[in-house]
Amino acid sequence: MFDKILIANRGEIALRVIRAAREMGIATVAVHSTADSDAMHVRMADESVCIGPAPGPQSYLSMPAIISACEITGAQAIHPGYGFLSENAEFVQIVEDHGITFIGPTAEHIRIMGDKITAKDTMKDLGVPCVPGSDGGVPDLEAAKRIGEEIGYPVIIKATAGGGGRGMKVAQTAAEMESAFMTARAEGKAAFGNDEVYIEKYLTTPRHIEIQVFGDGKGNAVHLGERDCSLQRRHQKVFEEAPGPCITPEERAQIGKVCADAVAKINYIGAGTIEFLYENGEFYFIEMNTRLQVEHPVTEGIFGVDLVREQILVAAGEPMSFGQDDLEINGHAIEVRINAEKLPNFAPCPGKITAYHAPGGLGVRMDSALYNGYSIPPYYDSLIGKLIVHGRDRPEALARLNRALGELIVDGVDTTVPLFHALLQEPDIHSGDYNIHWLEHWLAENMA
Ligand code: ADP
Repeated sequence: MFDKILIANRGEIALRVIRAAREMGIATVAVHSTADSDAMHVRMADESVCIGPAPGPQSYLSMPAIISACEITGAQAIHPGYGFLSENAEFVQIVEDHGITFIGPTAEHIRIMGDKITAKDTMKDLGVPCVPGSDGGVPDLEAAKRIGEEIGYPVIIKATAGGGGRGMKVAQTAAEMESAFMTARAEGKAAFGNDEVYIEKYLTTPRHIEIQVFGDGKGNAVHLGERDCSLQRRHQKVFEEAPGPCITPEERAQIGKVCADAVAKINYIGAGTIEFLYENGEFYFIEMNTRLQVEHPVTEGIFGVDLVREQILVAAGEPMSFGQDDLEINGHAIEVRINAEKLPNFAPCPGKITAYHAPGGLGVRMDSALYNGYSIPPYYDSLIGKLIVHGRDRPEALARLNRALGELIVDGVDTTVPLFHALLQEPDIHSGDYNIHWLEHWLAENMA
């Protein structure tokens, strides 16, 4: 096992990794930009290294600075958290070339899943159900129109290199194909330096269901059920839960096995998420994330396992601490993402925290790097906390969420907390009856 690991991240996820490492008796190194000298992850780690100025590209994304920090401190492994360098195959390669262990999948797996066409082809070959669409890239408008006729409108045109909801355009009818095709290409080129696009059938009322998988890199893998992350704003998740309110035990076992078998076959190592759209009882693969997800705590809540501990174990070459038969769902968990943003437009709202009180009590987990007097810098993501609740069933989890939100105090900046108070008044949230468009419609009606 490692003696010391470095966490190439900041905020709540850096704390999350430090906590797991500490329970395992592993020393931790925090890295930080000059804007984060006073940040909680710096205070909580055993050691810290300043790796550059505030902007991400000069600090948290600077590969030479992070590798140097490892060498200076003698850290044997790097945990990347999520975002930043977590899905950067080149970084993984460089880390390994320096004799440091990357706590995550191989560069090859990251590369395969980072290219959406290759990812889809790979998954199809592994027996994972995919959205009907073009076979790979679509060379020109003529081909795009032909595919549109074949699979039937509406269709979605997606940049192969796309991510974060960018480089996607819907064509409702053949008449809209030209402009959608050209726009998706131009966005792909501008944002990702690659104008290749592919086409999929556009599902009109799907839910977002993702399967958590975990592999040991030696051909063994398990699934940890699904998370329903259908409540999204601009393709960004805001409220996640497990298990999915509409997924039956039979569906879970079936799609879970397909996913676990797929990643076992490629000797996948560590945590991964296979994302699906789910409509009329069918699952359609959209992408795989080769990292720990922001919303992993809801899965930890219902299975009672520590996914970060498990990531560190397999990275050190040790076996996973559980097999498929050890994993049993217990109750229901919900996470809400608390952002420093001003409603109704969700404008980032950095600033000084004048009072902070985290909720507590049975079944409440607050993952946050906030403290009283902390100044949220303007340079990074606006996520400032994740409130995760666990109950014996969904109604209990919802009641607990309501109670915990009432206890939470974050003064000095605007947050998205009022959004969740309002959502908890909605019958659809209580019945679990929503799809990926529900929140956008609700926001248009209630927050415009
Ligand atoms: P990104 O990598 O940009 O997040 P994804 O492929 O994961 O892109 O898609 C993001 C979101 O876009 C999905 O969660 C869903 O809301 C929507 N989406 C993607 N593909 C389709 C599709 N074929 N039909 C309907 N909606 C889709």
